[in-house]
Amino acid sequence: MNAVQILAPGKVEYDSVPSLPLKSGEVKISVICSAICGSDLKNIKNPVQTNMIPGHEFSGFISELSEEARDHFIIGERVTAFPMISCMKCDSCLEKRFRDCNHKLSMGFHIPGSLATEVNVDHRFVISLDKDISFEQGALLEHLSCGYRLTQEIIQADVLKNSKILVIGDGPIALGDLQFLKNAKFENVYVIGKHKRRLEFALELGATQTFDLNDYKELILQEEHIFDICIVAAPADEVLNQMIPFLREGCILYPQTRINDSTTLKSIENGIFKLGRAFAYAFDDFYRVMEKIIKKEIESDKLISSRISLENFTEKLPEIFIDKGKGKTIVYNANYDKYI
Ligand SMILES: [Zn+2]
Ligand SMILES: [Zn+2]
Repeated sequence: MNAVQILAPGKVEYDSVPSLPLKSGEVKISVICSAICGSDLKNIKNPVQTNMIPGHEFSGFISELSEEARDHFIIGERVTAFPMISCMKCDSCLEKRFRDCNHKLSMGFHIPGSLATEVNVDHRFVISLDKDISFEQGALLEHLSCGYRLTQEIIQADVLKNSKILVIGDGPIALGDLQFLKNAKFENVYVIGKHKRRLEFALELGATQTFDLNDYKELILQEEHIFDICIVAAPADEVLNQMIPFLREGCILYPQTRINDSTTLKSIENGIFKLGRAFAYAFDDFYRVMEKIIKKEIESDKLISSRISLENFTEKLPEIFIDKGKGKTIVYNANYDKYI
């Protein structure tokens, strides 16, 4: 098989590597495409482990089955996977709360990922794609599940539908969040970012108002907005810090990236702001997102900003880093023409 491997911080190579034999319960997936996540880029820059194949948002078809997987899947079945391979023994796993498993291994970080021509996955984490879901949409399910889960957490916190919600960031995560919040009928969702084109798209997707980072201070001061909810969808501590006067006491912060701003952290510690949960997603979220894509309630295609081939990944990596936050890069295997 061929694969991209992280050799050293910031250094990747595309080459032929030995195909891994199937372990008990695993299936082999012939990868059609992968979507690049900010966390993959972070891992390439600062790897959890070197000699690792990155990538965890992907789709493909089953090309080989271990004995134990035979009752569950067939050769040729179109699939994606839940990329946090959990222990299946702890209490969290027994309740299907895989994201809470302390022993989980993340594809592309601790175990080989999808930027390869094939990948082996325990069949219990493999998800069949609906016939109306394309390979590209299949590769975006993981990403979109983050926005779906965030919205579920906000609903479960009994947040009123007319609450003022601020999304910090205008990248793919923020635009996913916005779509699911609008889909769940939250009326007032504001987006703050620095890419004109992405902010326009946010308005198209139903944002109440967008703020351009270049002149947000004046804009917000004029409008006198006070927010009930703040979603931190981009690492932007400075912006968050400047937004503090506009977050009401009791505001719930949902961090989808690490918050390092000390004033914000102190405010959380002192109980001025509450901390909501915005980490990852649940297994069944992938199915809910598929339903929403099929019903055209969620627009996934516009999140894609570029398509490249796997063999060009190494060469294109600097551009992907620059493009980061603008949209999703989809990486296709060489013979992708027939799948677009
Ligand atoms: Zn991801
Ligand atoms: Zn577990």
